[in-house]
Amino acid sequence: MQKGKIGISTENIFPIIKKYLYSDHEIFLRELISNAVDATQKLNTLARIGDYKGEVGDTTIRVSVDEEKNTITISDRGIGMTADEIEKYINQVAFSGANEFLEKYKNDANAIIGHFGMGFYSSFMVSEKVEIHTLSHKEGSQAVKWECDGSPEYTIEEIDKKERGTDIVLYIDDENKNFVSKDEINRLLKKYCGFLPVPVAFGKKTEWKDGKEVETDEENIINDTNPLWTQAPSNLKDEDYNKFYRDLYPMAEDPLFNIHLNVDYPFNLTGILYFPKIKNNIEVQRNKIQLYCNQVYVTDSVEGIVPEFLTLLHGVIDSPDIPLNVSRSYLQSDSNVKKISSHITKKVADRLDEIFKTERQSFENKWDDLKIFIEYGMLTDEKFYDRAQKFALLKNTDGKFFTFDEYKNIIKDSQTDKDNQLVYLYATDAQDQFSFIEAAKNKGYDVLLMDGQLDTHYINHLEQKFEGARFVRVDSDVPEKLIPKEEQTELKLTEAEKDNLTTIFSSQVPNMEKANFVVSFEALAADDKPVMITQQEFMRRMKEM
Ligand code: ADP
Ligand code: MG
Repeated sequence: MQKGKIGISTENIFPIIKKYLYSDHEIFLRELISNAVDATQKLNTLARIGDYKGEVGDTTIRVSVDEEKNTITISDRGIGMTADEIEKYINQVAFSGANEFLEKYKNDANAIIGHFGMGFYSSFMVSEKVEIHTLSHKEGSQAVKWECDGSPEYTIEEIDKKERGTDIVLYIDDENKNFVSKDEINRLLKKYCGFLPVPVAFGKKTEWKDGKEVETDEENIINDTNPLWTQAPSNLKDEDYNKFYRDLYPMAEDPLFNIHLNVDYPFNLTGILYFPKIKNNIEVQRNKIQLYCNQVYVTDSVEGIVPEFLTLLHGVIDSPDIPLNVSRSYLQSDSNVKKISSHITKKVADRLDEIFKTERQSFENKWDDLKIFIEYGMLTDEKFYDRAQKFALLKNTDGKFFTFDEYKNIIKDSQTDKDNQLVYLYATDAQDQFSFIEAAKNKGYDVLLMDGQLDTHYINHLEQKFEGARFVRVDSDVPEKLIPKEEQTELKLTEAEKDNLTTIFSSQVPNMEKANFVVSFEALAADDKPVMITQQEFMRRMKEM
């Protein structure tokens, strides 16, 4: 047996790992399994190019939990390591000046792990002892066992291991006993490993027999090795996308549509983004996009990585160019990440434009659900605004849709005020403002319906963007003044007559005041419709009498 010291320039790297990575202990499993995946893929590559002549065989990665011994074991059939390779890749931790580095990043310790070759060492966040049992794929290799108890000392010895590959055995420490549980490991595997490219087995499949759940002989493979976003879009149908969406978000309604991202220059990025059906609260919808790095789950909080408005979308983004495991502040400043972000915006805009051009009717049908994304994007992202001008729609109170240009043409001859400003009339509530809308329409004006969550901001924004134009609420007094004096129909009732009428109506409508009815005379000016009684607050129903 050989003893040695781990080649880092600090005596106490493990306490530091434990302390600063406290919040994220669970990532040890992801780190170890992604190493197993790497080792397997390396073996496959060697076999493909003829540098490995042995039989590849079954390369399933197996995870097991021993609740008695308090161990978790991750086994792969990848390339394995020789004693020399352990010395090189494990003992000499892959960065120099560890002290200095840790000092600098101690408040940002996620930056250490992974990015600097510390993935394997994250196992010490949860273990009092770690063993590596490994047999290299190289012909005539001697299997070895490496063992370390969390101090910088380790031992290495020859063992008898017949199968190529590596077993990592974690002896879980007292503080982290919660991980020694099938349910917990299942949860972590689902979260981090659900789409890994190599099969990962954990336990046996179960089935229901005589009202009891019993184990079968079949291994339980926890991942889909060929997730939809890695497949060619031309082979996929809407139904495939919707099914994948339901796998990701089991409770959600079908999405409006999807965008399959597939970029290989100037960086690699694949993914599928979905426009979900947003219910009334946009805040609860945020952060549903999952970020992957080579099919390894990284995070689902993507602020700073995708443009703000796209945090409302759902789906997955996978890029080997988004560094795994680095901190949020690092990600946000990374120039690759910035490029990725603006590229995604462009792709999303391009796809929307394409749908608008090729399937305008269906685009219009979805507009009410879609507009919140587009308006939000236009409000918060200048570049997106520029792109979206082509397909952003305005809806009028008759339910007709127009692009900005189309709408301008509709109103340019009939809706200008005395200062020659173009006047966009809008209603914020089609029912409450019914009589005003009718009145405006009877004067030959068009009225937009702006009743969305973001419309107040959106109107302000458009007013700044549209030159020589302003937006006017249909129930303000301005619409009256828009038309030439001679064409105006005067309201022929005096105040006394109005009072009289109100009294008459009140006597006919039971509980008029209590039920919050309001007598409205505006309609009189518009056409020959008599008076209207509107019930304002709760029923928002209108009766024409
Ligand atoms: P990284 O994966 O970023 O290289 P890690 O700390 O996770 O850093 O792993 C360090 C190195 O140890 C790997 O690059 C690899 O050479 C080796 N290694 C770790 N786990 C395995 C394994 N299961 N099989 C073969 N080699 C491994
Ligand atoms: Mg690793």
